[in-house]
Amino acid sequence: MLLLNPGPVTLTERVRRSMLQPDLCHRESEFYDLQDEARVRLLATYDLDPAVWTAVLMTASGTAAVESMLAALVPEAGRVLIVENGVYGERMAQICGRYRVAHERIVGSWMEPPDLQAIAATLDAPGGARPTHLAVVHHETTTGRLNDLKALAELCRARDVRLLVDGVSSFGAEDIDFEEPTLAAVAATANKCLHGVPGASFVITRRSALEHAASRTYYLDLGRLAQLQDQRNTPFTPAVQVYYALVEALREYAEQGGRAARYRRYAQFAEQVRVGLAALGIETVVAPEQSSVVLRSYKLPAGITYATLHDALKAQGFVIYAGQGDLSKTLFRISTMGNLTAADIERLLASFGRLLSQ
Ligand SMILES: *Cc1c(COP(=O)(O)O)cnc(C)c1O
Repeated sequence: MLLLNPGPVTLTERVRRSMLQPDLCHRESEFYDLQDEARVRLLATYDLDPAVWTAVLMTASGTAAVESMLAALVPEAGRVLIVENGVYGERMAQICGRYRVAHERIVGSWMEPPDLQAIAATLDAPGGARPTHLAVVHHETTTGRLNDLKALAELCRARDVRLLVDGVSSFGAEDIDFEEPTLAAVAATANKCLHGVPGASFVITRRSALEHAASRTYYLDLGRLAQLQDQRNTPFTPAVQVYYALVEALREYAEQGGRAARYRRYAQFAEQVRVGLAALGIETVVAPEQSSVVLRSYKLPAGITYATLHDALKAQGFVIYAGQGDLSKTLFRISTMGNLTAADIERLLASFGRLLSQ
């Protein structure tokens, strides 16, 4: 079965087998070597300077990394403006609500890029309620839209606002400009563009941002996790086998040419799917130039429900992904992350062709 959902991804045999290495106690030096290698390799994906940036690991799915980032990096006296144009933007607002992080939302259509003018106006709001932080989902997996970090960072730069990014489904493949001085942190996960298994996630944060970190959560306390990991320590029992897989996936990633190579490979597959489906009359929901290379959403062909499409493709060995909520009636999603080949995509397109001609 090939997984075309946005994580977990189809693994390589090498990563799958890496989980069968010797049992490790997480209080032994062998585990800390593994943790160190994961942290070093995570920074290396974007050539980050370890004196400026740090990768903080946690045993949990991607949402936990986003939660950890928001709960820590908006200081007690801070206020965050959340850019919402999909499910994951909504989720960030819900997280801030639970932790009582002072926040407001700029809610846009899920089919449109964020409204930069409205964001600028909110950042400039008179009075004492000015946001200190802006939070955005880089790749909004709801629709496949890639939000323009550069444009948002420019708004932040002019106002001394710090940018917090949910990069869960873009980190490792899409371009992220870590030279951008307003960028404070990016939250991401092992099991999307990095091709590890679910259960480990991380925040890449500027060390300077941790100096003012709040401590609103116990398990996901980013400042404490960072401090202990820097001391070759860990507060809790990590998912050791998941870390084995993450490190192996990062070794493979580097050997395959790193981020640029992963981007090219995804772009090739995403275009192969788009062109092939277009030939069958199936259109994209978001224009390719506004989409990620990681996942694209497509309009359901007339007269076919998602369930019919899904079940027919699953019978041919492919798991596609529904739209979220009401979107399941109008669109479906195809991710091209994971251990896939151009031949796999050809077989997928052939399956679509057979299905539509019936
Ligand atoms: C997958 C994803 C998440 C996190 O999902 P988990 O199920 O917690 O791993 C968060 N944000 C985005 C943009 C995602 O695509």
